[in-house]
Amino acid sequence: MRRISIFGATGSIGQNTIDLIARDPEGYDVVALTGAGNVARLAEDAVRLGAEVAVTADADRLDDLRTALAGSGVEAAAGADALAEAADRPADWIMSAIVGSAGLVPGLRALRHGTTLALANKESLVCAGPLLLAEAARHGATILPVDSEHSAVFQALVGEDRAAVEQVIITGSGGGLRDWPLERLSEATPEEAGTHPNWDMGQRITIDSASMFNKAMELIETKEFFGLPAERIDTVIHPQSLVHALVQFADGALMAHLGAPDMRHAIGYALNWPERRHLPVDRLDLARVACLDFHSPEAARYPALDLARWVMRRGGLSGAAFNAAKEAALDLFLDRAIRFTDMAPVVEQVLEAMDRAGCLDAAELSLDMVLQTDRDARARARAIAQT
Ligand code: NAD
Ligand code: MG
Repeated sequence: MRRISIFGATGSIGQNTIDLIARDPEGYDVVALTGAGNVARLAEDAVRLGAEVAVTADADRLDDLRTALAGSGVEAAAGADALAEAADRPADWIMSAIVGSAGLVPGLRALRHGTTLALANKESLVCAGPLLLAEAARHGATILPVDSEHSAVFQALVGEDRAAVEQVIITGSGGGLRDWPLERLSEATPEEAGTHPNWDMGQRITIDSASMFNKAMELIETKEFFGLPAERIDTVIHPQSLVHALVQFADGALMAHLGAPDMRHAIGYALNWPERRHLPVDRLDLARVACLDFHSPEAARYPALDLARWVMRRGGLSGAAFNAAKEAALDLFLDRAIRFTDMAPVVEQVLEAMDRAGCLDAAELSLDMVLQTDRDARARARAIAQT
């Protein structure tokens, strides 16, 4: 039996992970499940899967969680420290699927124990990629990408010489507002931006898909995870979301990864790695698919992409600032304090101000620096939005 924990178990990735492991009750011993607000869902899954402990990030919900788990034998815990401690519990495989930079600390803690970390939480790579990879190397831990594009690249690279990679291309659907006239984008509501044409995901990443901040994050994620320079990474709009990524090799071969838009593929690949096993995802019928479209993203529609390129060149603490400013801008948009089209300018102004003040310089990252930059960038984003 493999011991596994799921951080962010109540979310979209967490629930898809549970769907896969629940199909093989003899295969997995569930250690920790974590969530934030949704205590009822967390408790129900923890009891059903026989977890050792259920942890809610929300310290005020401990009593609710205890009540929901009463008599089940599942331990209840709450708060940020309990979340980090849950990552200390021995496990063979840990899913990192908390949304936002809140996923960084539990992920780093898990890596210290030499575990295999299935990383859906792209924010931790964007804000602290070098730190995460160094921690994994120091403790002999393995990080497996769960973002669909990065899983696709990872699969295309199996058995290949990384030195022969000319370019990595990640695809994006262009999001729910792709076909809106540019001049109407400023009117988009969180509900309109939060509808995705192909993927069923959490609300935040769905809105980030519409602005392509998600793809911007993924460009940085590609640079950090695969150690490629910015000019070797590109993105292309592919409305059908069937080709997830492509790798161009030195001999001109372009290897593409195709599959139905179902995150259980990338999650299942990480769960079964290095083997491939049956997964309950739809198979593509290419004759029915008939046609695959691609086009370049328009810079004016997706300014987040240029910001990501700047971050990729700038390095240092710019990824931490970018991610936090983006998270804060998204919160402001969700609160209807700024418009959809204000998010990128807010992030740009935060990056400019922090760069001018010398706040992005760092020869080597530390967790304290990253967390400080995260707080600073959020505060600046909120202040800029008020002016
Ligand atoms: P979601 O919003 O559906 O779920 C987020 C999870 O994190 C929930 O369990 C929630 O309770 C928990 N959480 C939220 N705030 C927290 C906090 N402050 N501290 C601790 N826990 C907290 O999100 P999701 O769509 O499942 O995405 C999870 C991660 O996976 C994100 O980093 C996202 O970018 C990435 N990802 C998601 C998809 C997808 O298809 N949903 C695809 C690729 C990558
Ligand atoms: Mg993705």
